[in-house]
Amino acid sequence: MNGEKRIFGLIGYPVKHSLSPAMHNAGFRYLKARKEINYDAEYKLFEVKPEDLDNFLNSLEEKNIYGLNVTIPHKEKALSFVELGEDSSCLEQIKAINTIVKKDNVWTGYNTDIPGFSRHLKENIDPLNKKVAILGAGGAGKAVSYAIANSKAKEISIYDIDKNKVKNIIEMINKIFEGFDIKSADSIEQLNIPDKDILINATPVGMEDADVCLISEKMLHKNLFVYDLIYNPSETKLLKLAKKVGAKTANGLKMLLYQGMLSFEIWTGKKAPKEEMWQALSSQISIK
Ligand code: NAP
Repeated sequence: MNGEKRIFGLIGYPVKHSLSPAMHNAGFRYLKARKEINYDAEYKLFEVKPEDLDNFLNSLEEKNIYGLNVTIPHKEKALSFVELGEDSSCLEQIKAINTIVKKDNVWTGYNTDIPGFSRHLKENIDPLNKKVAILGAGGAGKAVSYAIANSKAKEISIYDIDKNKVKNIIEMINKIFEGFDIKSADSIEQLNIPDKDILINATPVGMEDADVCLISEKMLHKNLFVYDLIYNPSETKLLKLAKKVGAKTANGLKMLLYQGMLSFEIWTGKKAPKEEMWQALSSQISIK
């Protein structure tokens, strides 16, 4: 084993702007320097088109790949390649994994987005009995909806331009959490944000300078907690507006850290070095 280089990485399409290599490589360097691992490890980006996914997943051993993160558009399709890890009973219904590792000779899948998001949210606000509005019903919106329902929030209202995705999430939540109050909003106004305790943006709107803010100032209030999953820029127009009305805010960089630390621990079996991984991540982000 000594001297062997293990490859880890992210598969998705596209992936070139990912901050994950800096975070994970800082973690690997830290463990190696302290002799907690006796192998070299490197985290790389693998841009894999959907039509090439099967070939890629079937050649992991040849590439010396020991573990992967999985992102858009492969989170659902990668499920068919893996067994589900323990504590993953929900994954069958959620149909989205973001971490795979070879365990007892079997490729095994996990979702670390859900506990990563939950941990960061709870550092800011306990969702128990809270009324929550969610913008976006893609992969992230699905993980967030699960985490919020699982935390016994009072209700979720969810909006996406793609009504089918909203419908799928509502069906999934109703199946897993019988009786949970989740409803579809036909417009942003229908989310009834003035009545909510928590607003979460799980759309990509806000990543680009040219993006408009989906929410108007009059919808926001100072008792609202506004969480934007976007972390680059570190302060989106939504977060700026929320701060202006006195609301508490957070961006998604700690979610990225926490999901990354959990994936790292699954791959290495070692405690992830939080400070080193955080420094590596946050040093790459600029305030626009
Ligand atoms: P996704 O699967 O593409 O989902 C985004 C959803 O938002 C899509 O359904 C999209 O609809 C919808 N949408 C786009 N514009 C909208 C608008 N104007 N109004 C309402 N809905 C709109 O992407 P994702 O993986 O869920 O990621 C969403 C965001 O979360 C991204 O910015 C991503 O970087 C961030 N994220 C952060 C973390 C973290 O660790 N902090 C983790 C995961 C994701 P269409 O498909 O029809 O455009």
